[in-house]
Amino acid sequence: DVKAVETPKQTSKQLHVDSKWSDTTPYASKKKLQSWFQLPDGNWELGTILRTSGNESLISMSEGKVLNINSETLVPANPDILDGVDDLMQLSYLNEPSVLYNLQYRYNRDMIYTKAGPVLIAINPFKKVSLYGNDYIEAYKRKSDESPHVYAITDTAMREMIRDEVNQSIIISGESGAGKTETAKIAMQYLAALGGGSGIEYEILKTNPILEAFGNAKTLRNDNSSRFGKLIEIHFSETGKISGAKIQTCIFQSTFSGLVKICFATQKTQAGCFHEQSRVVQCSEGERSYHIFYQLCAGAPQVLREKLNLKSAEEFKYLSQSNCYTISGVDDAEQFRVVMEALEIVHVNKQDQDSVFAMLAAVLWLGNVTFTEVDSENHVEPVIDEDLTNVATLIGCNIEELKLALSTRNMRVGKRNDTIVQKLTLAQAIDTRDALAKSIYSCLFDWLVEQINKSLAVGKRRTGRSISILDIYGFESFERNSFEQFCINYANERLQQHFNRHLFKLEQEEYIQDGIDWAKVDFEDNQDCLNLFEKKPLGLQSLLDEESTFPNGTDLSFANKLKQHLDSNPCFRGERGKAFTVSHYAGEVTYDTTGFLEKNRDLLHLDSIQLLSSCTCHLPQAFASSMLTHSEKPIVGALHKSGGADSQKLSVTTKFRGQLFQLMQRLENTTPHFIRCIKPNNFQSPGSYSQGLVLQQLRCCGVLEVVRISRSGFPTRMSHQKFARRYGFLLLDHVASQDPLSVSVSILHQFNILPEMYQVGYTKLFFRTGQIGVLEDTRNRTL
Ligand code: ADP
Ligand code: MG
Repeated sequence: DVKAVETPKQTSKQLHVDSKWSDTTPYASKKKLQSWFQLPDGNWELGTILRTSGNESLISMSEGKVLNINSETLVPANPDILDGVDDLMQLSYLNEPSVLYNLQYRYNRDMIYTKAGPVLIAINPFKKVSLYGNDYIEAYKRKSDESPHVYAITDTAMREMIRDEVNQSIIISGESGAGKTETAKIAMQYLAALGGGSGIEYEILKTNPILEAFGNAKTLRNDNSSRFGKLIEIHFSETGKISGAKIQTCIFQSTFSGLVKICFATQKTQAGCFHEQSRVVQCSEGERSYHIFYQLCAGAPQVLREKLNLKSAEEFKYLSQSNCYTISGVDDAEQFRVVMEALEIVHVNKQDQDSVFAMLAAVLWLGNVTFTEVDSENHVEPVIDEDLTNVATLIGCNIEELKLALSTRNMRVGKRNDTIVQKLTLAQAIDTRDALAKSIYSCLFDWLVEQINKSLAVGKRRTGRSISILDIYGFESFERNSFEQFCINYANERLQQHFNRHLFKLEQEEYIQDGIDWAKVDFEDNQDCLNLFEKKPLGLQSLLDEESTFPNGTDLSFANKLKQHLDSNPCFRGERGKAFTVSHYAGEVTYDTTGFLEKNRDLLHLDSIQLLSSCTCHLPQAFASSMLTHSEKPIVGALHKSGGADSQKLSVTTKFRGQLFQLMQRLENTTPHFIRCIKPNNFQSPGSYSQGLVLQQLRCCGVLEVVRISRSGFPTRMSHQKFARRYGFLLLDHVASQDPLSVSVSILHQFNILPEMYQVGYTKLFFRTGQIGVLEDTRNRTL
């Protein structure tokens, strides 16, 4: 009966959205109820309210202890039957201790995955948990297991890609050591299992050991810390089989401090990689340089050792300074064999492999190069010994040229840019040497990624269907925050906006557009903070760039400029001295501007480029030309003719923003799926769960906010047409009218979908989380 169709206006219900955790207040007066209260150490403890008088409540705790607590501080606990629910949205009381407790309850039982509405929370177990492998993959594929899992979210991405013909992305974020890279691998494993068959999936998986060997290092927080951000785009054919992949590793992570010391007259911008370069030449006690160096020293076969004149890691200064050579439980020699095999599989040929190892050895030998004073003005030259000759041999250059490159600098001066040769002091020579080492290494990394991309390139028959996996560094707030945190937190601010926009804004706009009466939900929009960073000419980045180009600019003058121009911005606060504070979505961070200007002027050593381009080996040549092509045009001019305009330099901030925009654009056209990785303790140890640490991370990634809002919304939606087409055949009774709306409503009635679980819009149907699943299951069983 057509009359049964309700008009959108009639079906719409007023959604009631609680103000933040307002479910707590009237609770305290209720007796005999379980309640949370906070101990002086900040941890939450469960107790039962015995009685309440005035402002105080008497609470009984475990082991018969009784406490008097200020009633206002009590927070209601959920009934026992809700212990360990697999979606936080199911909790009756959605306060912080209840969320923490639920996650901990599951974590203690090795259930490391929990949903928070549409977001998957993954808590690092720091031990092997039996949740992976073919049996599990099969179970998720068949949907016989539906508990939260990376497999489940990846499965959803795969299905939605096919169903909606829209590209998907899986965005994984979290702190260092939270499990992002492992999670990305687990997702890739699932995609490989589902979309496998062509053999290319095997190659894609083999990129992991290579990228990790060259891009990961042991840090104090993570034995296998990725020092780069990675976006891997996996392409699929019409039939859902993997047809190729593309890796983009551009966003830097963590420090690249001390990147290059400055010499204004000769050095220009270096575009391209934000790979953490400084680790090559220095790292702190207890940390290591990139894995590949130790693997090479430990695992190179005899022939290769002789060719490269390799010694043990202890004998190379770049590796010996941090006094840490091994990682417990890791066999570097064995890993080297794994990497060699992987290089084979991704089709890096033997000659290129040898060149790669030669570059690595050259970097190591470069670190051993020493200098000696040659005149009374403290100028130095490298000592001509085994170290220097090894470098020359390995990169294929003339010893004299190498000596010159390490002891002099070409300066262009005056209006006509005349070249003068400046001799270097010891400190300058060491900087130059280290800069050369870093350039070689970072070019090598970029070159490898390029080779891998060539090998995995999608064939001519592009379908345009893809799933991208983003493994990116999370928000950072330390005791002392510098330029690196400034960049990383800006990136996270953008990603957070993407997250917000996707989950809340678009959703809300869609409701309104479709005539659904949606009680407006306030969500934190961080546009103000992004404006603070991006606005021209008076934003943090513009002002930094401007100050970086002033010859007299200093970190202090920069800080003062900020205070002068931005003090009225609510997201900004000037601090004493060289500091300023930004109100990020995840909290306030105070940045110390020391080093900002220098780090922002990412400068290029033209002398290094010249040296590399003169080498007879093909890799150094390739590096030199890539450094030039990645640079701005003026630099090419500078090398051949005269210097280019300084004003055309691209600062690190500007390049970073550019890369970020590109990344966001790619993500913008996809349906995102979010995984938030959480680190339960700072010791990389299993079984330990620090409430404070977890809570702080949950706040940083907006999970609590998401749960609150998603629960009150209708996250699943489908057009009347699509719904009717998809489920219409399940109808038992004939529907008089064939119009999609009538068919849809009949379906809803037949399946007894409760009225509060859906809404009918002008063009679409809106469902509460999980509702469409019932229909999908029936449909799949019927098909
Ligand atoms: P991130 O990339 O966030 O810095 P990683 O993915 O490298 O962190 O994880 C750090 C370490 O934590 C890993 O080396 C591994 O030992 C452990 N780990 C992370 N996820 C898991 C997991 N799902 N199962 C077992 N161990 C894990
Ligand atoms: Mg990582």
